[in-house]
Amino acid sequence: MSGTYIVDADGWVPAARKLVSPNFEARPQGAVPTLIVVHNISLPPNQFGGSAIAELFQNTLDCDAHPYYDTHLRGVRVSAHFVIHRDGALEQFVSCNERAWHAGPSNFFGRERCNDFSIGIELEGSDTVPFEAAQYRTLAALVDALKARYPIDALAGHSDVAPGRKTDPGPHFEWSRLQNDTSLDARYFPYLKFSGTR
Ligand SMILES: [Zn+2]
Repeated sequence: MSGTYIVDADGWVPAARKLVSPNFEARPQGAVPTLIVVHNISLPPNQFGGSAIAELFQNTLDCDAHPYYDTHLRGVRVSAHFVIHRDGALEQFVSCNERAWHAGPSNFFGRERCNDFSIGIELEGSDTVPFEAAQYRTLAALVDALKARYPIDALAGHSDVAPGRKTDPGPHFEWSRLQNDTSLDARYFPYLKFSGTR
C-alpha cells in the first residue's frame, strides 16, 4: 500500500488533526524511534465517539463526568503520538521526535522503557469488537510514513510489551491484515510467532 501521509522533520504528520498534549518529554540522548506500539482505547470504555480521549491526553478530562474516569483516570498523565478514530480520522498529540507516555512499564525483548524508543498509536476501540476498515487503512498509511522517516524495525501490541498488565489492542486486532496492508515482512512482527491466535 502506498503511503498517503508524510512525517515532517519536526515529527508531525501535517495531514493529521493536531491536538497538542503537554504529556511528553525529550527522548533519551541518542534514542530514535525503532518500535511502533499499537493500542486500543475508548472512553468511557466500550463507547465510541466524543472527545474524551483527546481531553485525557490534554489533561482536560472532567473526571466527575463518569464513574470510570473518577476511579481510574483522576490525576493520570498520559499521551500517545496518534489516535485513529472509528472513521479513520487521524489525530496527533505528540511529535514523533519526542517521548510520549503510552506504554508505561514495558519490555521489548529485554529492552525496558519502550516509550524511550517507540511511537504509540491508539486505535479507538476495545478488546470486544472488531476495528473498522477505515482504521486499518489509516494505520497502514501511517506506518508507511513513519517507516519512511524513522528506522522502524518492529511493531508490537501494548499487550506484547506489557504482558499481564495490558490486553490491548486485543483479540480483534488483525495483525495479518496490517502486515498485508503494509507489505512488511514477518521480521517486523516479532511477536506473531508466539501467538497461535494471530
Ligand atoms: Zn495501551
